[in-house]
Amino acid sequence: MTVPTQKPARKLSMQQRYSALTHDLDWDPTYVTEDEMYPYTTFEGIKVHDWSKWEDPFRLTVEAYNKYQSEKDRRLYAVLDGFAQSQGQLNLTEARYMNAMKIFLQGIPSGEYQAHRNFSHLARYFNGPGARFASLCQSMDELRHAQTEIHTLSHYNKFFGGMHDWNKMSDRVWYLSVPKSFFDDAGTAGPFEWLIAIGFSFEYLLTNLLFVPFMSGAAFNGDLPTMTFGFSAQSDESRHMTLGLEGIKFMLEQDEDNLPIVQAWLDKWFWRGYRLISLVAGMMDYMLPKRVMSWKEAFELYFEEQMLNGLFKDLEYYGIKPPRHVQWAIDEKEILSHQVYWVLYQYSHAAAFTTTIPNAEDQAWLEEAYPDTWPVFKSVVWDKAQRVVDSGERYFNPGLPQLCQVCQIPMGFTEPGNPLVQCQRHSIYEGERFDFCSDGCQWIFDREPEKYVQAWLPVHQIYQGNCGGPTLPDVAVWYGLEPGDGGEYIGSMDHQDWLAWHAPTIKEG
Ligand code: FE
Ligand code: ZN
Repeated sequence: MTVPTQKPARKLSMQQRYSALTHDLDWDPTYVTEDEMYPYTTFEGIKVHDWSKWEDPFRLTVEAYNKYQSEKDRRLYAVLDGFAQSQGQLNLTEARYMNAMKIFLQGIPSGEYQAHRNFSHLARYFNGPGARFASLCQSMDELRHAQTEIHTLSHYNKFFGGMHDWNKMSDRVWYLSVPKSFFDDAGTAGPFEWLIAIGFSFEYLLTNLLFVPFMSGAAFNGDLPTMTFGFSAQSDESRHMTLGLEGIKFMLEQDEDNLPIVQAWLDKWFWRGYRLISLVAGMMDYMLPKRVMSWKEAFELYFEEQMLNGLFKDLEYYGIKPPRHVQWAIDEKEILSHQVYWVLYQYSHAAAFTTTIPNAEDQAWLEEAYPDTWPVFKSVVWDKAQRVVDSGERYFNPGLPQLCQVCQIPMGFTEPGNPLVQCQRHSIYEGERFDFCSDGCQWIFDREPEKYVQAWLPVHQIYQGNCGGPTLPDVAVWYGLEPGDGGEYIGSMDHQDWLAWHAPTIKEG
């Protein structure tokens, strides 16, 4: 046996260097208490004994972070320039593809900006330097996402309706209160709940269900800018997912009293997030002229397989159980997109996107993707809508829908196991009745009724006279809608423009 020779002291390891660059710059306050310096990390009941246990597994420095991000931005903006110069919008599959991007632009960048603000808050108010620095990076990422999304889609705004007032719309229009209320709910929670809501449930559990369909949908439909933006953001997502996972593990490892609090947040935010991305289900199955995969397939792959059978098996070690209403979501996977798109179809006269009856090709695809449920929906819903069209009309629902008090989606979901019976739950709070779309939303309300009674429900606001006036044209003006933004796709301004751009040109000579 040889005696190991003593090696001379080497350079610092990656981890030591990172720690020296971040954690070692931290200090203990002397003239204020820790509670005075970090006043927001105790009221939620999460017990932390040792903040230094929070590891940032990415070990990025500010210098490296900026270098990576600016390189990614350079690539994105080069693609955007090339696309604009070559009139790339003409090579999309069809103009109706843009409807998915309209909803994305109206609903997502303002959420990214909210995320930017809240992660900045965490970057200041978390007690540990590891948690603060990871939050700072995510805060910068989210600002970049908001900017790159707006820049990416601004090119299309020159050619298509529905994209001109996205920021005003995201504050006002009925279906956009769904994402807005989601981020408002998370942003008004404490820092740890925010981390479970956004960092874990949204970024970890559900992010692939949001990003993969959008990115591959963009790729399949000739939308190079959105695809490039998506890849650029997706590489940040892996860091965000890690922060979310690190956050939940940190809470669970610090004190076993944290388990029930974390579990309840997870139950709540799984359902909130799942209801929010039901818009994605409608988009995937109905709005893309060329489909990538069905909502059902995506849900099975990215949620059931990767999360339920993967991640939650790992979290079992800490005592974490799968989200409370997960079975309901599984049961809905065959019908979710049909129900959501039907709601969008009926009310698109008051929206900044257009809808249309699935054409023959779409219907063949739906039949194959949903052999059990599509035929029922076709006969109950679309055949009737088609008869209306055949008679020279278009069906729009003239009334205002009842909204779920929690997710704010019109009540169009059905009882589990019975897609022909609308699901409705209600709770009484201080003598007043509140209605919900599902057990999940009711459970969330019953935990914190004092929060959800304050919800800004678009339909109630219209009835109270807070949305520009009593008639649809009044409300449309207040929403910022312009002619050509919404309604039926066939014959719409976008459709007519598209046909004109692609009309065969007659060559002279
Ligand atoms: Fe983001
Ligand atoms: Zn609901």
